[in-house]
Amino acid sequence: MGITGEKLDLDFVISTGDNFYPKGLVDVNDPAFEESFTNVYTAPGLQKQWYSVLGNHDYRGDALAQLSPLLNQKDSKWFCLKSYILNAEIAEFFFIDTTPFQDKYFTDPGDEVYDWRGVLPRDKYISTILNDLESALVESTAKWKIVVGHHTIRSAGIHGNTHELVQKLLPILEANNVDLYINGHDHCLEHISSADSPLQFLTSGGGSKSWRGGYNWSNRNEMKFYYDGQGFMTMKITQAEVEINFYDILGNVLHQWRSSSGSQAELAGTGVVFTAIVTYLSFNLGIVGLTSDGLLDLDALYVQVLALFHFLIFMPFMSKFWLYFTS
Ligand SMILES: [Zn+2]
Repeated sequence: MGITGEKLDLDFVISTGDNFYPKGLVDVNDPAFEESFTNVYTAPGLQKQWYSVLGNHDYRGDALAQLSPLLNQKDSKWFCLKSYILNAEIAEFFFIDTTPFQDKYFTDPGDEVYDWRGVLPRDKYISTILNDLESALVESTAKWKIVVGHHTIRSAGIHGNTHELVQKLLPILEANNVDLYINGHDHCLEHISSADSPLQFLTSGGGSKSWRGGYNWSNRNEMKFYYDGQGFMTMKITQAEVEINFYDILGNVLHQWRSSSGSQAELAGTGVVFTAIVTYLSFNLGIVGLTSDGLLDLDALYVQVLALFHFLIFMPFMSKFWLYFTS
């Protein structure tokens, strides 16, 4: 991944969640942050801004710790909020906090304890995300609209489709001409197209715990690519075209897909190219002891996080933009 990142001269990295496995971070001082992030992604090609969302495993620890600016002070690559927009002009990325959508974490958590601070009341939280997303998509003038969440919408892997997202999120993506939905959660690489819309479903969950053998998909026309092993995904976006590549861990391209259609008519463009890498972490166990001051300043952040899509990031004008995904 590091070698590929350097070769592509990527602009940023996206992590699709389950950033710290299996139970998130204990607090902001948890050494797992260094052990599973800073000390792992040391390749020069990956020293770019990382944009992350939370996965279900992150909610099993101190979910707010991952949102703390203190982590960004420890490692400036790190950036994570629950839901936010990354505006790269020709492409706009809408990061969605998908864990609260899934019923079973609330109705049948088993022995797991989830950190729902900021999420309850759940119905209101979910409807705010959906409303904010819908308005932001309607207002977006980006050629390419890309939604990133941890959970699958459509997947042939062990977890399969996430019915709650199919029901609540998918209609909004389809109605607003979203080009790509990108997720982790299932530990595989896959590309599923839809029969009734241009939306492409891209799973980049091949970071670890792969080869699970759970393939289940009957429609061969929709299934463009499925790989049960480890790997990652990159994306190159220009005004004219988006190009997606899935790689194995050796950097061999397993599947390539290109589209020039886009969600909107061609804008008066600059021909600017962006490159970025998106990754899904689930390496390196390492939950170590509790420390005391992890919640410092989190109340303020919590308010900001609740503001969801009111938090916008504008990317500086870049020469290229690549996405890179792994699990
Ligand atoms: Zn997950």
